[in-house]
Amino acid sequence: MITGRCLCGAVRYESPGPGLFSIVCHCRDCQRASGSGGVPVLGVPRVSFASVGPIKQVRTKGGSGHAAVRNICIDCGSLLFGTPESAPELVTIYAGSLDDSATFLPDAALFVSQRPPWAALALPLAEHQRMPDDE
Ligand SMILES: [Zn+2]
Ligand SMILES: [Zn+2]
Repeated sequence: MITGRCLCGAVRYESPGPGLFSIVCHCRDCQRASGSGGVPVLGVPRVSFASVGPIKQVRTKGGSGHAAVRNICIDCGSLLFGTPESAPELVTIYAGSLDDSATFLPDAALFVSQRPPWAALALPLAEHQRMPDDE
């Protein structure tokens, strides 16, 4: 079972998996949303994902033209997971919220054209200039 929570503990989530992909997204929206150089994302099936606790949804227009929806704890502001309208079968868990950080090991980096030099990871990652489907 994949589990995680926000900083204050008011929101918890779980997924039986499987983990479908593990990537780091360096798009500017992810940088601004996280205050960091990118967001590490673990994709899981939406049908079996469940969360409890008070969530606020922040919607921005994604690169696909559909809304990128970020789910945030109302109480502490932690970014927890995405529910993109462009991929309604997926939940994209923000890996920093996982209970077991070993659940996540990225194999690819997206939007490296927008990645700041200080945010490159010392891992062998497949690097995509944008989304893999857009190249
Ligand atoms: Zn919280
Ligand atoms: Zn992104």
